[in-house]
Amino acid sequence: MGRLMTAAAMLAADFKAGEILHCEVQGGGPAGRVIAEAFASGLVRGRLDHPEVDLPLRADGKLAVGQAVGRQGWLLVERRFPDGGRYVSHSPLVSGEIGDDVAEFLRQSEQVPSAVAVGVLVGRDGAVAAAGGLVVQVLPPAPRELVEQVAARMEGLGSLSARLAAGESVEAVGTAVLGPDTHWHARQPLYFGCTCSRDRSGELLAALSAEERRAMAEQGGAEVVCHYCRTAYRFDARELLADLADKPAP
Ligand SMILES: [Zn+2]
Repeated sequence: MGRLMTAAAMLAADFKAGEILHCEVQGGGPAGRVIAEAFASGLVRGRLDHPEVDLPLRADGKLAVGQAVGRQGWLLVERRFPDGGRYVSHSPLVSGEIGDDVAEFLRQSEQVPSAVAVGVLVGRDGAVAAAGGLVVQVLPPAPRELVEQVAARMEGLGSLSARLAAGESVEAVGTAVLGPDTHWHARQPLYFGCTCSRDRSGELLAALSAEERRAMAEQGGAEVVCHYCRTAYRFDARELLADLADKPAP
């Protein structure tokens, strides 16, 4: 999830105000669906169906991400515009390790040869020590083979997240891959956040049938839990029935 959130944040880096990137990986593995969303504002959020999945570490000490995600499936990327418009594309998964899958998506769907590295370093306590990534896209007239060289350099860097955790700057990592002539355009802060609210949760409940709401009211109320941030919004019987007052009970 962290890798996909990192990739989403980078792919949304040039988005205009109000645009959202929604990425979804369905690989058939025990983790289920992995979803990440990045907003033009810098807000990033994510979720996965089965966060409790706990597989043994791989032989190289890394998390068995590909195994948890699975590789029989696809990566779906949806760009959402403020006017409600959407642009959706997808590509088959390569490894379920996310970085390779995003690179394949950019090559297939966007027709841009790309090298992608994403990493999340998880400490012994289960907390994220560092997360980061690089997306390098080769634009014409540069030769396509260039992307292989960039990918090889990325590979040679070793663990990107370990470098960031050790205090190395993003600029230093970027320069190590692209060389000293790297020009930096802009910096954008990213933050973990959510867009859920009590009002929106109430709208979800309001969309249910009167019967369903009466049943929930009889059980003492309802709770709507956000899949992204786990915030629980509690609604009591009175709120559930507020706009049903003028409708006769069955
Ligand atoms: Zn939320």
